[in-house]
Amino acid sequence: MSCRKSGRIAVPLLLVVAVVALVGFLALAALRAGPSPEVAVEASAKAIGRKTAVTVSAAEPSRGLTRLRVELIQGERREILADKSYAPRPSWSFWGPRTERDRIVVEVGRDAIRGLRAGPATIRATAERAPAWLRGPGPVTTEIALPVRLTPPALHLLSTFHYLRQGGSEAVVYRVGESATRDGVRAGSWFFPGRPLPGGGPLDRFALFAAPYDLSDSSRIRLVAADDAGNEAEIPFVDRFQPRRPVRFTFDLPDSFLGKVVPAILSQTPDFSDRGGLLENYLGINRDLRKSNADELVALAAKSRPAFLWTRPFAPMLNAKVTAPFAEHRTYVYRGKTVDEQDHLGFDLAVTRAVAVPASNDGIVVLARYFGIYGNTVVLDHGYGLMSLYGHLSSIDVREGQAMKMGDILGRTGDTGLAGGDHLHFGILLGGLPVDPVEWWDPHWVRDRIARKLGWKLGS
Ligand SMILES: [Zn+2]
Repeated sequence: MSCRKSGRIAVPLLLVVAVVALVGFLALAALRAGPSPEVAVEASAKAIGRKTAVTVSAAEPSRGLTRLRVELIQGERREILADKSYAPRPSWSFWGPRTERDRIVVEVGRDAIRGLRAGPATIRATAERAPAWLRGPGPVTTEIALPVRLTPPALHLLSTFHYLRQGGSEAVVYRVGESATRDGVRAGSWFFPGRPLPGGGPLDRFALFAAPYDLSDSSRIRLVAADDAGNEAEIPFVDRFQPRRPVRFTFDLPDSFLGKVVPAILSQTPDFSDRGGLLENYLGINRDLRKSNADELVALAAKSRPAFLWTRPFAPMLNAKVTAPFAEHRTYVYRGKTVDEQDHLGFDLAVTRAVAVPASNDGIVVLARYFGIYGNTVVLDHGYGLMSLYGHLSSIDVREGQAMKMGDILGRTGDTGLAGGDHLHFGILLGGLPVDPVEWWDPHWVRDRIARKLGWKLGS
């Protein structure tokens, strides 16, 4: 009896619970719109120029994104740059797939949008909220003002007679407009930054630059000035260009040579991973370690002091026999087979053993240690990206940070690193690019090509 009585009460109670649950569920589905997404707009430059990247990011982790639109607004004009739709999670569901966040990158500028005019403009990003049955809440909008600038900075060449040899160096003097934020000389894949001209007006600039030893097309050497919107003025300014005559040399690799240099370099280079065999390790050193040493010299040049630390032409190194010239192209032969090719980017000078090595000019020691293929090495900074390198030393007599005068002894010649016998590897680098040292040793060249252009009086 008692069982039947309680059953009669339980049925309506269950019904009430079910109805309440259904009403709650319907109300939730009807009213549960998604929360406001977070929208951010960021530009890669302070203005729209030729090509400015604009990044729009949106996030709504609850029900997910529905739609994201990016527009450019300029006066009456409204240009849709991107428009993306997403399927949000249904309003009645607490699980299921959704797009929590997205990132859209659009290129805005003269190249991408036809008829773009100079003047104020706005980038607007609009993200829609996930709707409910009965409610379609308003979207979220984020805007940034981004003016359109299409005129490159002014650029005037002031110096004359830009005579350049492939692998050689040169100076140029010029004036930029006020909107310039980056200027200098582009030579193939290299860029030599301009600097304020000592003693010049506020917009007068100069650059020391070089024609890379492997660049034979002088039309790829340009004076450039760019603004922060990517508008760039450029001037071809090389008056005369002398291509380099190629010098080739075949380098035989006897096992005795590999057995001498490879273990010594590996023991001094903890970052180098052992490739197993003697030849494999030699090739790793000749290719990868050579490349990483070159990259390190570029990084070192970026920290060069913005001043001329020298006042006289560079002193020729030692009274020595030249055993390898600048930019000699080397073919490496092992047991009759060509195994590698590289360019030798300095001068090899041989006298006798352990000869004292003088600094070729005034400067500051920026590297004094074992340095990969160059073995025990000293690098001097001469300012404005100009450096000299002394490799394969048997001993180093200086420390980093030390100021040197021309002729001060920095170490002794040796055969450390990739060297068959006792000699000095001497290099001059500009912005980390090895250049022909012969010019810097020549007082006439230094006077005509550098000092005169920059309005200096040279010491002797
Ligand atoms: Zn050398």
